[in-house]
Amino acid sequence: MRRSRSTSRASGRTSAGAPHLPSTKAVGKAFKLTKLAGAYWRGDHRNPMLQRIYGTAWASEADLEAYIHRIEEAEKRDHRKIGQAMDLFHMQAEAKGMIFWHPKGWTLYRTVEAYMRRRLDADGYVEVKAPQLMDRTLWEKSGHWQKFGKNMFTCDTEEGEVLAVKPMNCPGHVQIFNHGQKSYRDLPLRMAEFGSCHRYEPSGALHGIFRVRAFTQDDAHIFCREDQIEAESTKFVQLLESVYRDCGLELHAVKLALRPEERFGTDEIWDVAEAKLERAARGAGIAEVEMLPSEGAFYGPKLEFHLRDAIGRTWQCGTLQLDYVLPERLDAEYVEEDGSKQRPVMLHRAICGSMERFLGGDDRELRWRVPPVAGAGPGGRDDHHVRRRRFRP
Ligand code: ZN
Repeated sequence: MRRSRSTSRASGRTSAGAPHLPSTKAVGKAFKLTKLAGAYWRGDHRNPMLQRIYGTAWASEADLEAYIHRIEEAEKRDHRKIGQAMDLFHMQAEAKGMIFWHPKGWTLYRTVEAYMRRRLDADGYVEVKAPQLMDRTLWEKSGHWQKFGKNMFTCDTEEGEVLAVKPMNCPGHVQIFNHGQKSYRDLPLRMAEFGSCHRYEPSGALHGIFRVRAFTQDDAHIFCREDQIEAESTKFVQLLESVYRDCGLELHAVKLALRPEERFGTDEIWDVAEAKLERAARGAGIAEVEMLPSEGAFYGPKLEFHLRDAIGRTWQCGTLQLDYVLPERLDAEYVEEDGSKQRPVMLHRAICGSMERFLGGDDRELRWRVPPVAGAGPGGRDDHHVRRRRFRP
């Protein structure tokens, strides 16, 4: 019997694996059968079809009831149903994992985008737009072709070019940074884009507007000097907290993903980078930072910002990632005060994560509300007029 109890860290997906029991004798009394499905013996379609029975088992009746209640509440808030009932968006088989925004849904989307843009402007960001397609050679240089190639959509031209649709915005931003000479006076340079990205995901992995093939990140890259990392990170965490407050979201946990087994850079670099991110979070008033050993990317540590919804699930929303590698791979440099050429450090950061996911967050009963659009300064003077929005059919 598969137990529904363990969930994966960020997504709340049910764990498909262990623990296995030798017999249902060990399950106890607090269990419920939930659904039936056909399954081939040993997963092979040449074998006979068997009946698979799903269920969930808990230590006590009370735990079981609480779980069933959470599932029922989650179903009521399913954003796919709400999106349909309120005529916000739809998805269809000819564009798997991609969203057709309807007028009402797109109005909501643009409201959030306009709010974010105003907050970024006030925090000294510049906004850019990089191409959707870029040549394979650039993706090879950035390392995405090797590391991420399987998830990239590509197309060939009659002239023999191989172009790839961007799965991330970072390499495009480095091209803009590299255009024209940059000096230490230009740093920190905070470059933002509502970056439309595409990633191939197997159709079985797609889920409503949470797991998609096309999404828009509220992305930005901060190019800065080593000694600016901490101040820039603290500034970002403050902005993120303020945005979440405006949207009525509660920050549940801040986690620091530490060096993985396979990584670039020396231990000394990682010691410094991890310490800087932790100090930056604390500098922004985060009392507790949970450590996630080995979960950082190969190019640097990452701060994750997790929200909790009304029915107890948590999900990762914003991120801040330190990167020493991409500036090196793509030859980003600036002229230091003494005339020497130096590499900037890059901070990858997002507050909403993906705009689609952020908007879909309402089905998680995040007490999401429409942020103020008009109004002066960060947060806006109309903050106290913020309307509460619940997408209830
Ligand atoms: Zn990035």
